Amino acid sequence: MQDLISVARARQRVLAATHHTAAAEPVALAAALDRVLARALASEVDVPPFDSSAMDGFAVPAHAGETVLRITGEARAGALAGLAVEPGTAVRISTGAVIPPGTGAVVAVERSAEAGPRSVSVEAVPAGANIRRRGESVRRGEQVMAPGTVLGPAALGVLAGIGCAEVECAPRPRVALLATGDELVEPGSALAPGQIWSSNPPALAGQVLRAGGEVERIATVGDDAAATRAALGEALGAADVVCVSGGVSVGRHDHVKGAFAELGVREDFWRVALQPGKPTWFGVAPDGRTLAFGLPGNPVSAMVTFQLFVRPALRALLGADPTAARRTAVLDEAIARDQRRDQAVRCRLRRTPDGLHAAPTGPQGSHVLTSMLAADALALITAGPGAIAAGEPVELELLD
Ligand code: AMP
Ligand code: MG
Repeated sequence: MQDLISVARARQRVLAATHHTAAAEPVALAAALDRVLARALASEVDVPPFDSSAMDGFAVPAHAGETVLRITGEARAGALAGLAVEPGTAVRISTGAVIPPGTGAVVAVERSAEAGPRSVSVEAVPAGANIRRRGESVRRGEQVMAPGTVLGPAALGVLAGIGCAEVECAPRPRVALLATGDELVEPGSALAPGQIWSSNPPALAGQVLRAGGEVERIATVGDDAAATRAALGEALGAADVVCVSGGVSVGRHDHVKGAFAELGVREDFWRVALQPGKPTWFGVAPDGRTLAFGLPGNPVSAMVTFQLFVRPALRALLGADPTAARRTAVLDEAIARDQRRDQAVRCRLRRTPDGLHAAPTGPQGSHVLTSMLAADALALITAGPGAIAAGEPVELELLD
């Protein structure tokens, strides 16, 4: 088993072979949720763009103190009042309205009282009270977001607030998915004896989208050397990442490695010290940049190895942080270690008053896909003797 590469080393090798390009494409703000910012973004404006009122109330002169003032007019949001605050007067003002010249502070409505048909009595407030200063939130020229930022709802709001209608994003990596196996049938068609419905393509396509990639194609090919080579050749020419499931093991009808070799795809590693996921294969196409993954066919193994190896590559291609979110949790049930292989144990997380707890999702066979259904995270149990006892802490990687 010396030839197995460790999970950590395999991930390093994937990342070492993954080259983020500086390519960028403009994306309308409405379509930019979860996209990755391609370049540093500096604001061309101050936010707020002018001194404005933080309250509905009265703009009063400096040092007005507690006094009665004559109301000379109104400053509303969205317009210039066209009048100034003179000594002995006040301007009625709305939240967000431009502060009129001569204003020393804004007194909130709640701290004022009507003192006649056109006059108001105001409480004393500190100089500058309730005035939002120009540029207080963002200064012109300031970098607002770094490249690699994942655009969440707040980022979209900030971008709109500095006047951006579109934003330069990293192009989504194009991923070609290929399922292999004579036994595979599309759901929707009837099964003949010995056949199964192909579940890897939709699961992997979902993972591609969650990772920020684009599904360039989904194809299925039987266990045939020539057909596998033809399908892989086309996929390599069309995508940034080719992800095959099945056919990478040592069976007589496993043709993926041979096909990649014939197509000049250089093997980087094959077989990882991981349970589930041992047969995982990784290589780089002759163009030096198209990545090729051979994932095991078992549905859990395919999803787990996508999470551990393909997802980091897609995030790195995007220029985003390739590392999935990690947590430490207290294990609710003992997990026996594997002597030689790290295990990725599907766990459900539960928050309790004494912290985060993790429980395995039941039978962990690599064909039991329902074990993924209930999983929030993968506990990475390192190879070794013995077991991790209930009550001990484990490291987990959150699933998207
Ligand atoms: P393989 O890696 O080709 O030896 O396949 C291992 C196991 O995964 C076999 O039981 C296959 O039937 C199963 N398998 C392979 N591809 C798929 C798929 N697309 N959907 C569901 N099961 C699959
Ligand atoms: Mg197969």
